[in-house]
Parts: sequence; C-alpha cells; structure tokens
Amino acid sequence: MQRYFVSEDAFQGSFVRLKGEEVHHIRNVMRFQPDDQIIVCKEDGMDYLCSISEINRNEVLCEVVDKRPSKGEPKTRITLAPSLVRSNKLEWIIQKGTEIGAVSFQPFCSERSLIHIDDKKERKKRERWQRIAKEAAEQSHRGKVPAVLPVLSWKEFLAEMERVPLVLIAYEKGGVPIGQAMAGSQANDIMLVTGPEGGFTEAEIDEAKARGAVPVTLGNRILRAETAPLVALSCMLFARHELGGETQ
Ligand code: SAH
Repeated sequence: MQRYFVSEDAFQGSFVRLKGEEVHHIRNVMRFQPDDQIIVCKEDGMDYLCSISEINRNEVLCEVVDKRPSKGEPKTRITLAPSLVRSNKLEWIIQKGTEIGAVSFQPFCSERSLIHIDDKKERKKRERWQRIAKEAAEQSHRGKVPAVLPVLSWKEFLAEMERVPLVLIAYEKGGVPIGQAMAGSQANDIMLVTGPEGGFTEAEIDEAKARGAVPVTLGNRILRAETAPLVALSCMLFARHELGGETQ
C-alpha cells in the first residue's frame, strides 16, 4: 500500500491533512479516489492506515481507520558514514542504504575525497539527499525516514566517532572479518565508515583506531566506494537476523 511521511501537525484528531507534493502524488500519480486507502507515518514508530475522505486541489483529507507498529525499522541502528564521493554515487548509497535499513547517513570529508562542497552548496545538496531518503523510505515501507546529517570535516568526524558505541571502518588492507566484529558486540548503535574512491590513508586509519574504531574487512575483492557501504550494511543486518532472518 502507498505510504506517505508527514509531520506531526498534519494529524488533527482522527483526521490527517496531506499537503504539497503528497497531494500531487495522490491526485496525479496514483490517481486515488475517495475511500481508497493509504498508509501515513508521522515517524512515531506506527503505521496509520487511512481512508481518503476528500481530494482537493491543495489538500487531501483522510481519516485514520487503524494503526499498527511499523515493521520496517530494524532494531540494530546502523549509521552509514561514507566519505564524500561523486554526487551520483552518494545518492545511490542513500537510496539503497535506506532500502536495506540504515537509520541515518553521516557523510564526511577525508584526504582522498574527490569532491569538496561549500556551505551553500551543501544545504541544497542535503535537501536533495533528504528527499531521496524520504522517497526510498516510502517505497521500501520504512517506519521512519533516515536522517542525512550535515557533512563533517575529518577532524569533526573523528570527534563524532568517540560518541558512537561501536564504529567499524571498512579497510581493504585488512581488519577483522565483518561478521566476527558483529558477533563480538552487543551494541545497537553502530556506525559503518567507508572510504572514497582512492581509499583511506594509513594515517587516517590510525587516527580512527585511536578513537576506538575497529578496521573490518569485506573479503579479498576490492569493492567500489558505493558498493562497500551497501555490502557491509547487508552483512551487519544479516548478522543480527534483520535481513531475511526476521521471525515476525
Ligand atoms: N584503495 C583502493 C580502493 C578503495 S575502495 C584504491 O586505491 O582504489 C573504497 C572504500 O571501500 C575503501 O576505502 C573501503 O572503505 C571500502 N572497501 C572496498 N573493498 C573493501 C574490502 N574488501 N574490505 C574492506 N573495505 C573495503
């Protein structure tokens, strides 16, 4: 069933008012009619099953007929932290990472990042990245839209690493097998760090290790910068029985 993410204030009692691009999607893309059903999420962990009451030019009014817990949110909260890579690759990581089950994205700059962006450009880019996450979350039946966080400098990112209970850094030159790293930890908040096209420098790996990050390997083949985070995320969720191993 089609799903839409809205803000809390769209809910008024047992009614929900959808505005903006959702109206366009309901009217012109899906061509829904009154009495058709949709799912609306306000990111509180619940899916609200709604019946459409009225479709107007600027607004769609619907009534909540049932609510149930969202099944699309993994219990293991994994943040993907990709080093800045070419824009279309980052978009791919955000879209696919959302489908697979990342809870947020933390881009950062590293020495060999091929692109660097200024503040003004970043705000525009981040709006676009957040929109990609929202669309992917709707499509893949997530209960929440993953947040795309502001791009950090390497120095800021090192400080961020210290806050997260478990940080895994994918390093093609060697590390603990990723399954082993997952099996050895009970942490539910995990950050997975991956490098740019040219990889990390040895000094960067050492700095990350000094902040508690654990280098992990994804095997003997070298994956591209946009493949590595998605493969790692899949392995990590699989290790926690959250990718095909669900019992519910
Ligand atoms: N050093 C490289 C490859 C970089 S691959 C080169 O010179 O081209 C881009 C990123 O993907 C790496 O920084 C690493 O984080 C991740 N990666 C790719 N293959 C990997 C593997 N087999 N194990 C662990 N990480 C890997």
